[in-house]
Amino acid sequence: MVASHRSLRVADSLYCYIWQGMGNNCNAAFFPDLLRGEHPHVLVDPGHIRNEFREDCFLSLTEAMKKDGFRVEDVGLVVSTHCHPDHFEASQVVAEKSQALVALSREEGEFYQTMGIKFYDMLGGKAPPLEPTFYLQEGDLNVGAKTKVNLKVLLTPGHSPGSISLYWPEEKILISGDVVFFASVGRTDFPGGSPPLLRKSIERLSQLDVEHLIPGHSTEPGKIISGKSKVERNFQMVKMFV
Ligand SMILES: [Zn+2]
Repeated sequence: MVASHRSLRVADSLYCYIWQGMGNNCNAAFFPDLLRGEHPHVLVDPGHIRNEFREDCFLSLTEAMKKDGFRVEDVGLVVSTHCHPDHFEASQVVAEKSQALVALSREEGEFYQTMGIKFYDMLGGKAPPLEPTFYLQEGDLNVGAKTKVNLKVLLTPGHSPGSISLYWPEEKILISGDVVFFASVGRTDFPGGSPPLLRKSIERLSQLDVEHLIPGHSTEPGKIISGKSKVERNFQMVKMFV
């Protein structure tokens, strides 16, 4: 199978796998060799297993990772920005292959147990179990790292009640999940969505010093948003939508 993810090395310790298939799937972020032990990689938002066009999204991701010399079996932690199927469905497969822990915010975990799982039913998919899991809190993501990557977890609800963004101040990189995209913002018409909360979250993210914004989906094919002025202009523009 030809991978439908484009690999982009955004920093020494960060690869972005940008989805460019036909149907829906998210971009994944990947921090190699971050953790101590036999499963050192951290994967953010593994995405769909298979999407509405029957594209093998997860297989594509693993192929793209393999080309860069990484195995999904060596992932020790999956971080989920939120629990929607196009971000979270494959987390279970990663956990099965690697015994990786799955992490998301407590707010999103609680939402998942009540309404989030039903959302999978609505879309005709199968919701992955939430085990093994630990909850992320607002603040430093402290995972006993062997490489110094000081990530900050920001609670940025609105698209989903417990959506998080990840900010890496040293590299000025922001992984925003489905809060903000290039020239667009996350939908608020899914279960638990809230336009006022999304507006607040976007306002908060726009205060950060960001050189590379990695959105959950690329509205410019194959691209992330790079360059401080382009990121700032994008925030100015999207604030008019929310
Ligand atoms: Zn979403």
